[in-house]
Amino acid sequence: MRVDETSLRQNTEPAPLKAVAVRATRSVELSVVIPLHNEAANLDKLFARLLPVLERLNLTYEIICVDDGSTDASVARLLELRERIPALKLVSLSRNFGKDVALSAGFDYAQGAAVVPLDADLQDPPELIEQMVVKWREGFDVVYATRRRREGESMVKRATAKYFYRIFDRITDIPIPHDTGDFRLLDRRVVDVLVRLPERTRFMKGLFAWVGFRQTALVYDREPRNAGQTKWNYWLLWNFAIDAVTSFSSLPLKVWSYLGLVFSVFAFLYALFLASFKIFRGIDVPGYASLMVAVLFFGGVQLITLGIMGEYMARMYNEVKGRPLYLVRDAWGFEAKE
Ligand code: UDP
Ligand code: MG
Repeated sequence: MRVDETSLRQNTEPAPLKAVAVRATRSVELSVVIPLHNEAANLDKLFARLLPVLERLNLTYEIICVDDGSTDASVARLLELRERIPALKLVSLSRNFGKDVALSAGFDYAQGAAVVPLDADLQDPPELIEQMVVKWREGFDVVYATRRRREGESMVKRATAKYFYRIFDRITDIPIPHDTGDFRLLDRRVVDVLVRLPERTRFMKGLFAWVGFRQTALVYDREPRNAGQTKWNYWLLWNFAIDAVTSFSSLPLKVWSYLGLVFSVFAFLYALFLASFKIFRGIDVPGYASLMVAVLFFGGVQLITLGIMGEYMARMYNEVKGRPLYLVRDAWGFEAKE
């Protein structure tokens, strides 16, 4: 197995962040990064819609497909397409690493002065790239696409998404735009920052917002998936939410000392009450029920606390191990790098 140089970015020595003052002039102006996992059924339609858009833009472009451990014909199909689309490049990861990591891999390889991550299932309309480029040329560094409606998604999914954003807003300092996915245009200076972020738990939406810069929004209608199945289920979404919160907030760790304080004050007052009861009335009524409730309740609270600490510790362990974010099995179209 060939391990690519860029894939061995180590956690221990992040390159220094440097501000890029002027818009870099580069040979490739626009990179479209497409993370894909078993999307063979969507590829023809995807390129049929994407290529005319890119041609109309009248700028130099590249399309970087990141195969995230596909087990279907995606890679074979892309290699066929490469024969007639010279701008198509392909990075194949050694296994399935998840969309956020696949996207990071794509950013590492992207050369463009602007980078647009795009889903392979046509849920992100490629036509919107034209408007993004217009805004970019006006001087915006991030042009994100906010969806007006969510087609083909259940009520439960919409409701959980809504509450997730609300809670996230409450407990973190960075405002992430609601109903906004990864589909956006990023200027090179933003991409340069993102590829230097060493963290392993990559909640991309949060990172996109964290970088700041001049951001603006476009509104679009999100279509249902073209073909195939979404890889998300509620368990994955729940874990995604935990990743999101733990990577941008330490409130869940801190809240327990305050709760503990409140409980201690109550416990103290209750102790005073029990003592005076004993002194003035002479008898104390054994209260099995209250005892049981208190024991179970505090046992529960302590387990939750431990669990939350565990969540953070597991993530710290993950970061400390410093394993490469992803491994590249093969890459096509990056002659200069090989
Ligand atoms: N994807 C990926 N790796 C994964 C899961 C998904 O690269 O482990 C890609 C997938 O092929 C698609 C994009 O990420 O291009 C969005 O995935 P999906 O449509 O399943 O997510 P949703 O649109 O439901 O959020
Ligand atoms: Mg999708």
